Amino acid sequence: MKTLILGAGYAGLAAATKLKPTSDLEVVLVEQNPYHTFETRLHEAAAHNTQVTLPIEPLLRGTGVDLKLARIQEVDLDKQTVTTKDGETLSYDTLVIGLGSVTNFYRIPGLAENASELKSIEDAEEIFDWINRAHQADYTGSRNVIVGGAGLTGVELVTELAQRTELLSRRRGVPKLEIYLVEAGPKILPVLEEGLRKSAEKTLEGYGIHILVGHRLMKATENSVTVQPAEGEAREIEAGKIIWTGGIQAQDIVKGEKLQRGPANRIVVDATLRVPEYPNVFVIGDMALAQGKEGKPVPTTAQHAGQQGRLTGKNLMRLVRGEALQPYEPSSLGEFVSLGGLMAVGWMKLPWNQKLAMSGGLAHVMKRASEWRWRASIQ
Ligand SMILES: Cc1cc2nc3c(=O)[nH]c(=O)nc-3n(C[C@H](O)[C@H](O)[C@H](O)COP(=O)(O)OP(=O)(O)OC[C@H]3O[C@@H](n4cnc5c(N)ncnc54)[C@H](O)[C@@H]3O)c2cc1C
Repeated sequence: MKTLILGAGYAGLAAATKLKPTSDLEVVLVEQNPYHTFETRLHEAAAHNTQVTLPIEPLLRGTGVDLKLARIQEVDLDKQTVTTKDGETLSYDTLVIGLGSVTNFYRIPGLAENASELKSIEDAEEIFDWINRAHQADYTGSRNVIVGGAGLTGVELVTELAQRTELLSRRRGVPKLEIYLVEAGPKILPVLEEGLRKSAEKTLEGYGIHILVGHRLMKATENSVTVQPAEGEAREIEAGKIIWTGGIQAQDIVKGEKLQRGPANRIVVDATLRVPEYPNVFVIGDMALAQGKEGKPVPTTAQHAGQQGRLTGKNLMRLVRGEALQPYEPSSLGEFVSLGGLMAVGWMKLPWNQKLAMSGGLAHVMKRASEWRWRASIQ
């Protein structure tokens, strides 16, 4: 069975590392980078230049999977082909698509042109370089950083930036950055329950971050954003750096006449994570619109991408052995949001569907533990 796994993110890499060399299974993992990116730690790379990548090749030892480095241009499910940027056409019997998501700028005027994103190591490096420049004594531009979107990514980023500017301004004797967190919704971190959210909000206020909830980002230029509060006049804020973390959508390089897509362009999959109209195609991770028990869309998180990848790896082995595939049963083991340095808030799942809420150092340890678990699962 000639199998292609597209993307070595949380989903694709989890699938590949669950495989074992088997005579009837020939697997190639196609990925644009020779490394896996710990996307959940990109905010640390952006603020502190932390190493957040791992070479893929050694992780595939003992799996029988070959790595092909290529940028995928198009996937055509009707022709059963994958075309790379270099013009190469790959064919498959079975396909696993885990190419992740891209930033959704929601067509806000000027935003795509003027805002940085935080989706790749290059994005993180670009932000890191700007922070360094903005802390030079001869820097003359605005030291305002505007981060749009107060979900997980936005909140984790502003808290790391706050810690970084504190350190650099003390060390170099220059003014600190003024950090604005702009959110159209009424609260930050809507995924968290009220108590934890309040605790996170207090930490942000302690850092001196300007929290503008209920403010819609209307427009961006090279050096400003315009925000519209729920009530009152729109206002323009000067910006040295604009970073948009306010939305994602699935990659749009998969074509198929019968393909069904849901919100944020996610591809509809069945209980075994296969595309109903193309049963030889699995879609996993941020690209997939998988459903939980009550028919609710599974969140786009690394935790769920990893679960889907591991299941799909095992299901590929079952396919080769002619066994029935196991369905996907999503489970949330907890959720932790880092708030800079050794601070975090979150909850972990206890038996009988109970949740244990935590904040401070212990939550930070739990957040780190989930990352170590991920590393251990692919090594
Ligand atoms: C800053 C930040 C913080 C986050 N924090 C958390 C968190 O704390 N907890 C959590 O659960 N989730 C978090 N997330 C979300 C999480 O990272 C994603 O849900 C997860 O990465 C999705 O996994 P995936 O495998 O679908 O995609 P990805 O991990 O994005 O992997 C996609 C892979 O496909 C490759 N690829 C893409 N396009 C192409 C192409 N055209 N050709 C070849 N290769 C390609 C990419 O290089 C990448 O390796 C965070 C995200 C960000 C950005």
